[in-house]
Amino acid sequence: MDLTFSERETAFRDDLRAWFAANHPGPEPLHREDLHFAWRRDFQRRLYEGGWAAPHWPVEYGGRGSTLTESAIFFEELGRARAPLPANVLGLLLGGPTLMAWGTGEQKERFLGPILSGEEIWCQGFSEPEAGSDLAALKTRAVKDGDGWIVTGQKVWTSAAQYATWCMLVARTDFDAAKHKGLTYFLMEMDQAEVQVRPLRQITGESEFNELFIEGARIPDENVIGGVGNGWKVALTTLMNERAGLAFFLQVRLRRLLDDLIDEAAARGMLEDDVVADKLGALHLKAEILRLTAYRGLAAIEQYGQPGPEGSLTKWMWSETNQQLAQVAAELLGGDALVSGTPWGYELLRARGNTIEGGTTEILKNIVAERVLGLPRAR
Ligand SMILES: Cc1cc2nc3c(=O)[nH]c(=O)nc-3n(C[C@H](O)[C@H](O)[C@H](O)COP(=O)(O)OP(=O)(O)OC[C@H]3O[C@@H](n4cnc5c(N)ncnc54)[C@H](O)[C@@H]3O)c2cc1C
Repeated sequence: MDLTFSERETAFRDDLRAWFAANHPGPEPLHREDLHFAWRRDFQRRLYEGGWAAPHWPVEYGGRGSTLTESAIFFEELGRARAPLPANVLGLLLGGPTLMAWGTGEQKERFLGPILSGEEIWCQGFSEPEAGSDLAALKTRAVKDGDGWIVTGQKVWTSAAQYATWCMLVARTDFDAAKHKGLTYFLMEMDQAEVQVRPLRQITGESEFNELFIEGARIPDENVIGGVGNGWKVALTTLMNERAGLAFFLQVRLRRLLDDLIDEAAARGMLEDDVVADKLGALHLKAEILRLTAYRGLAAIEQYGQPGPEGSLTKWMWSETNQQLAQVAAELLGGDALVSGTPWGYELLRARGNTIEGGTTEILKNIVAERVLGLPRAR
């Protein structure tokens, strides 16, 4: 693919760069998660008012109808400006595109606007205590009741559930069908007494994610997405958008962290040391490969019309490289990177989850082996 920007893309980038310079969200609030989330929510509001909340969405749904390359430029400039991901990232990158693919006209009309403005936050209720990698093994049940459904079960690792209005929930609706076939995709309203959200504390001290206990929650028929029994296919749309959508932001964030580490090493006079230069050089090489692979993923979307399994390759490479980067930072900066509450201490601890969230490395390797390389299926 041609990596040179066209005149239109250069103009898009310049407009965006000027917009970020004039609308920076300000300093990141540290040590208070609620304030941090509010900061990201305010920033999303500002993006929305400027028409930048979801450039890749079609104009009819409030986006700019940006091309894939422009969308990549958006994430690159967001990273360059050191601005955060908008608060409703799961709605913007996962929920919105899933609704556009599977939702009815009424559902799109009702839900897309508040996703874009950040007025309604979305969370993703897929994983369960015994169904993570093997998502189709999930046990949360939805039973028909009049003009709706009664849901009972437990979800876990549900990011941002404590702030969410809506949950993209996959539940079992046919108990006799094969496990991938008996699932339905719902939008569950979080604000009901039958849905309890219990934050889980992470190694970083934060609670990004939660347990959800669902004891007879009600979901009306009009909140079924993509038809009863079709939940597996709808969930795959969400998962493919998750990997493809985040790929650009993640590789840009990694580049930014690496540049910070190189600056810190230079300030300490460490770049003259061959071993240090070698480690940083190896990370630079991986960051470049990641950037080029992310662009190659775009070319695949342009060719096939939807994200393919290449997103799994980018997610796998990013998570391992990000962990190595945090490790090298700890080796180079010593005590300064190991103190809890410092930016590098945070990166070191938070990176541990990278090879689990959004699909574990082992699962991604299986996908790449089977669906990119065409190797025989794992048993
Ligand atoms: C920070 C973070 C945020 C998250 N946010 C959300 C969210 O918002 N919503 C949500 O639904 N989920 C979320 N998750 C959950 C995440 O998707 C799951 O943790 C992940 O899919 C793995 O599932 P599991 O934890 O049940 O592990 P398991 O599936 O039990 O896996 C355990 C181990 O076995 C390995 N393994 C499993 N099956 C195979 C296989 N077939 N071949 C080889 N190895 C295998 C895995 O790689 C792993 O090492 C989040 C996780 C993290 C860390």
